[in-house]
Amino acid sequence: LAPDEPSSRAPRRAEADEDDDGFALALERATAAPEARQRRDDVDDEDIVASAAGYEDEYDDTRRRQAPSELPLPLVSTSYEPFERVAYAPPKELADLAPEDVKKRREALDIRVDGCNLIAPIERFGQGGFDVDTLKALKRCGFEKPTPIQAQGVPTTLAGCNVLAMAKTGSGKTLAFILPALSHVARQRALSKHEGPIALVLAPTRELARQISSEANKICKHLRPRCCAIYGGVSKTDQFKALRGGAEIVVATPGRLIDVLTMKNCTNLSRVTYVALDEADRMLDMGFEKAVRSICRAIRPDRQCVLFSATMPPSVKRLCRDLLGDTFVTICVGDVGAANADVQQVARVFVDDAARAQWFFSTLPQFIDAGQVLVFVTHKNSVDELVHDLTTRGVRAVGLHGDLEQHDRHAAMKAFKSESVHVLV
Ligand code: AMP
Repeated sequence: LAPDEPSSRAPRRAEADEDDDGFALALERATAAPEARQRRDDVDDEDIVASAAGYEDEYDDTRRRQAPSELPLPLVSTSYEPFERVAYAPPKELADLAPEDVKKRREALDIRVDGCNLIAPIERFGQGGFDVDTLKALKRCGFEKPTPIQAQGVPTTLAGCNVLAMAKTGSGKTLAFILPALSHVARQRALSKHEGPIALVLAPTRELARQISSEANKICKHLRPRCCAIYGGVSKTDQFKALRGGAEIVVATPGRLIDVLTMKNCTNLSRVTYVALDEADRMLDMGFEKAVRSICRAIRPDRQCVLFSATMPPSVKRLCRDLLGDTFVTICVGDVGAANADVQQVARVFVDDAARAQWFFSTLPQFIDAGQVLVFVTHKNSVDELVHDLTTRGVRAVGLHGDLEQHDRHAAMKAFKSESVHVLV
């Protein structure tokens, strides 16, 4: 709703729309002139913290000249130890269902499937082949019954298939790839000292990476696997410690992951046998295609892969073909890409910015009375300007964009969630 003209203020970084500062920072480092690099390195908090903790940045000059996404990531060896992929056989009551009944069940849950090895959707977590501890953990978390994407996605993934899934945020899609990750991890050899993760989840933004790892940790805290999140904008020290301490599940943004993978003795992908990509379409929109491909190339080719995407542009189709191979299962729940039926949408078109602003400021109090208000604008500078305008008018508002320091981003989300501010721009 704020005017779209570029502001006179220069963006803090060249990658003004980059949402993963680890990646932006590495790119900046990789392309900066040597003197500029020196200056940058002198003031880089993350490096200071990292070296204080005894971890050294292993970029050498040759690597610095390359974009990080093209850096040769350490390849896993060509001789792989076996891993256990198939971990699920449907219980008799599901295996015995007539195809017509399976079809009816899917229709009732608004699930469409395509591919080979199609398994009937489960009706309860008890049919998912989970051990008693996992079932207890699900109960403690209040997850009584699988959501539709879990009902179809969990058994399909547990059966070892590569999966392309399309489901909305809020559908329980995180658990649809985290629960199979837990079962997958439980069936593999335990991590030895300094081995990297067994399950890797890639997400486009820090907020999503944090959200996924917090969802995973709801369950993990009752179980054995450890899960940590690796994303830019915060000190690497704690992330290094979590990685080196051994985390079976790592949730990462691509830029920061490449950043840590190119550092000495931090982590490696040699044990990864389960990969999940969340919001793959957004990941590509944000320019992470090379980074994602580079990471996946450094993982053994026979790993299991699950890819979630809300839309299917040609670039995502190509990625699916390359990462999932020819025999993956497609699962689509609901009308993905369309509006959620629970959301009423109203569009208003204004003749000019003044009319739009007039409507916005006069209507905002009604929206605030009804609940929390999210406002989207085009530019980061417009966020700051609108928050300033709102605050001047006495509205409790806060801004969120990629140029903010991570603690300010956390604070903004926290303030909005706790309703101590009413508007998030
Ligand atoms: P997601 O779509 O993964 O972002 O999940 C949305 C919300 O649904 C999260 O708060 C989850 O904790 C919750 N959730 C996920 N699975 C279930 C379930 N089976 N039963 C109840 N809540 C769930």
